[in-house]
Amino acid sequence: MKAAVVEQFGKPLVLREWDIPTPESGQILVKTEACGVCHTDLHAANGDWPLKPTPPFIPGHEGIGLVVEIGEGVTNVKVGDRVGVPWLYSACGHCEFCLSAWETVCADAEFGGYTKNGGFAEYIIADPKYVAHIPDGLSAIEAAPIICAGITTYKGIKETTAKPGEWIAISGCGGLGHLAIQYAKAMGLKVCAVDIDDGKLEHATQVGADAVVNAKADDAIEAVKKVTNGGAHGVLITAPSLPAFEQGLGMTRKHGTCVLVGLPPGEFPTPLFDVVANCITIRGSFVGNRKDMAEALAFAAEGKVKADIELQPLSSINEIFTRLENGKVPARVVIDFTKN
Ligand code: NAD
Ligand code: ZN
Ligand code: ZN
Repeated sequence: MKAAVVEQFGKPLVLREWDIPTPESGQILVKTEACGVCHTDLHAANGDWPLKPTPPFIPGHEGIGLVVEIGEGVTNVKVGDRVGVPWLYSACGHCEFCLSAWETVCADAEFGGYTKNGGFAEYIIADPKYVAHIPDGLSAIEAAPIICAGITTYKGIKETTAKPGEWIAISGCGGLGHLAIQYAKAMGLKVCAVDIDDGKLEHATQVGADAVVNAKADDAIEAVKKVTNGGAHGVLITAPSLPAFEQGLGMTRKHGTCVLVGLPPGEFPTPLFDVVANCITIRGSFVGNRKDMAEALAFAAEGKVKADIELQPLSSINEIFTRLENGKVPARVVIDFTKN
């Protein structure tokens, strides 16, 4: 099969032949129809994070396709089902976190396109217990961005605990952010979108933001506070950039919650006095559990959330990465495997 492979961190992906894998007991084989390109794939290929994948590996965790083969003992999916192979590839199923629907933080979790080969290939091996079940009415292409960008922002918004009628500030209006705006609106929130790029902010308004603020402006924090009358009840930081984190904290209302989702390598300074004296919650959020996945997909199937998609062939992967790195992807690129 054709695959785009990370052979060395920080180097272009290598387009090459790779053996079609055979599903073992408890596994399934998925024939890829579409796979979104997430900024996380870029972090993976650069070896940006403390926990690193082992090259050679195939990135991609927004892969959608049809089940073409099932291993022994698989009962919950059948050949012909349309499924997604997400970042949360599998987990142990019995630790305290798995038992409480926090399988995303299971110590034995595996990650699609990271510790397991992912969707930048014509076939993907998956664990049927953790695949996303794509609802009827949602095409593979439309579903692809939902299984990472969608679920992550939907869960992240829930984690802000902002209530209908309250304000959320969404920092970073790219692949994740343009969906976050739509989920937040569908959940009854008022949205202040924040980005460094005026084109992204224009797009943010088109997809429903009530107000926009350019993060590069000197008074960006004050501008958000003015719009939201004292700071946003919830802040969701999707920007893959450290300055956005300190800034996002400053945009948080007293007793509000700032949820961190973007994953640039490094650390950011935390103004301890302000956080303590204003009773601010800072919370990390990592994709979502399987129930969050079903809910995030339902919003899309009902037409409440729609990813803006640019289709590209797998052979363009390195150009896509360069554009993503430079903020030149308007929303989400999805690799269309039906046209290769
Ligand atoms: P993207 O490149 O499509 O979008 C990033 C957006 O952030 C762009 O619009 C860019 O202009 C904007 N931006 C850059 N610097 C900014 C700043 N200082 N202030 C405000 N906006 C700024 O990326 P994406 O696919 O949306 O991914 C974003 C980040 O989220 C990545 O770091 C990715 O690894 C991470 N991520 C985390 C999870 C999770 O579970 N926590 C899941 C998926 C992705
Ligand atoms: Zn992702
Ligand atoms: Zn577990």
